[in-house]
Amino acid sequence: MRSLLVALLVAATPQTPAQKAKELSGQKAWEELYLAFSSGDATAVPPEQRAGVSGALVKGCQALLKDDAVMAYSLGERAVVFQESAPALRCLASAARKTEQRAAAEATLVKGVTLFPKDGAFPLELGKLLLEEQDSAGAQAALEKVPPRSREAAEAKKLLQQARQQTLQEDSARAEASRIEKKLGGSPSRGAETRPASAQAGDDSTVVALETRPGMSVRTPRVGFESGVNSLGMRVRANSRYVITYFNNDRDFAQRAEYEGRIVEILDTAHHFVQKVLGETREQPVTVVLYTSAEFRVVFGDRVANSVAGIYKTNAIHINNAAELNSQNKATIVHEYVHAVMAEICGSGDLDTAFLPMWFSEGVAMFVEWKYLDIPGPTPDMMEQIHALLSTSDARVMSLRSMTKIPPIRMGNAGMAYDISGLGVKELMRREGAYRLMTLTRAVCRGRGQPSFEKALLTHYGMTMDDLEKEVEESVQKR
Ligand SMILES: [Zn+2]
Repeated sequence: MRSLLVALLVAATPQTPAQKAKELSGQKAWEELYLAFSSGDATAVPPEQRAGVSGALVKGCQALLKDDAVMAYSLGERAVVFQESAPALRCLASAARKTEQRAAAEATLVKGVTLFPKDGAFPLELGKLLLEEQDSAGAQAALEKVPPRSREAAEAKKLLQQARQQTLQEDSARAEASRIEKKLGGSPSRGAETRPASAQAGDDSTVVALETRPGMSVRTPRVGFESGVNSLGMRVRANSRYVITYFNNDRDFAQRAEYEGRIVEILDTAHHFVQKVLGETREQPVTVVLYTSAEFRVVFGDRVANSVAGIYKTNAIHINNAAELNSQNKATIVHEYVHAVMAEICGSGDLDTAFLPMWFSEGVAMFVEWKYLDIPGPTPDMMEQIHALLSTSDARVMSLRSMTKIPPIRMGNAGMAYDISGLGVKELMRREGAYRLMTLTRAVCRGRGQPSFEKALLTHYGMTMDDLEKEVEESVQKR
């Protein structure tokens, strides 16, 4: 009697998320599995179910790794969202490498090293990746983390020798450069490039912020910095991720080496932070030009200088009043870095602004900036103002649509225009998350404006611009 009752109860209980995931993975229905778990908040699934869902997604990731790395990556990404297990991180990292998303691969492997210190595969793979990127000091730090008794130990030992050899060669090349510079009358105390790399190892400014690579003293890509002068005669320091230049060569931003270290640290944070929020980040190096406030005013004019802390333009981030690294300037670097990421997704240069509405470009940057500052959106005061405006007949003046071709900065109330743009993207993120947002971006950019943004919005979100404007209005009222 009792067993019959149990059987009846089981039959009446609807399928749990874990059961559904397991069933779909058993059928190798990867596409359906992905769709079932591709969006939404993982916390909506009960905690005890998440491992099961993650495990099913990992199976899909592994099965597709060889033939469909893009889909494998998507499955791996969601698997990690449900549970940061070792197999999930391993598969995501492999898929990231296969799809040439090196930054994502690096971030995933670093996470693996941190969460699973006894697993030799994560530091080994990270070491290989950094060796390929000519970051021999970083590779060395990673490879030293391979546990001596792990399966990967022998291979790690061989690569470690190679990494050490390369670091030594880089050091002596730097020392040689320093000697030459001294002979030519350069001041060796001014630039970090005149010090051998090994001497930089203990320097805090060259160690990546703990929050981006917890527990690891891997140095930033700055290790691979080359210094020189560009075609415009500007002093340049560059590596695979950033190219730092000064608008004025003679400008002494206090202790230049330390200052550059701090800029690189913020850029590194931006790089990983954008990856976290948008699910992807910039792969190509981005140029950063540092200005004093007076220089910025001369180049960009009073109006712009008064209202922005930085500008992204044709592959370069221009920073206003760079000498002061306050939290607003840091947030600006993150904001501008988002533009650099979006520009790259759209085919580099300024192509994002050619194909995407201006409010959308700025809105994505604002959204990430809010996340970085850990605030929900516009200030309460600004929300009041927006609310007041939207409830009048003047609402059209400041609609998202009015900022299709006109950037927020050129609107009457630029601050409000930026915030409304951010709210538009916030609504899109709230609805479908980052993956969908990037899919929409790619659809418009890859097609070079075919489909139009409006059409793509309809396809990927089932919304018109009117719907979106209305949602923004409601979100301002709802608070
Ligand atoms: Zn912007």
